[in-house]
Amino acid sequence: MVTYLHHFLDLPAGTPGPARRLAEQLSTIVRAATAGDAGIAWESALPCRRRPANRRCPGRMIVLRTEPTAPIRWQCSVCDDEGIISNWADSPFDLRPRRLTLAHPVNELVIPDEVAAVLRELQLPDAGCERLVFRIRARNDHAVLPATGDDLDELIGFVAAEAGHEPSRRRRQLLDTAFDALSNAPAH
Ligand SMILES: [Zn+2]
Repeated sequence: MVTYLHHFLDLPAGTPGPARRLAEQLSTIVRAATAGDAGIAWESALPCRRRPANRRCPGRMIVLRTEPTAPIRWQCSVCDDEGIISNWADSPFDLRPRRLTLAHPVNELVIPDEVAAVLRELQLPDAGCERLVFRIRARNDHAVLPATGDDLDELIGFVAAEAGHEPSRRRRQLLDTAFDALSNAPAH
């Protein structure tokens, strides 16, 4: 499947659900592929959307971005779902850093998959936070978040602030779980 990302931007109101879900999947793949390393295929924490025989495919999205603006390749780690996304560069989902940042020590935090999913649903305040959330990798049944201490402090502060003014009790509990997981995650 070859898709041109700009066909999926600004879908008109009333677009049917399947088209909207596909657009959402493609935009999260672009965010992961541009937030993570270029030049190597890596397994993101993004779940596969397929439901063969009505059961959710347990696979994760493996993404590959080669420099500088070649199409992004993606495939499921379990089923045969795969595709190529063109015209992603400079779209709103392009999270490539605009300037070089100094290298700081990076810890790898192990967090539950559900927490990675909660973080992806947040309206994150800036591209730096989005990069953190979308470069989360899959590892066995967990997710792994590479982050510097400063990155992590910023993300934890944001999650705490969101939890503070979240009206829904259920969402607030999810955010509290995310806060605890980020604050106490074992680092590797
Ligand atoms: Zn799959």
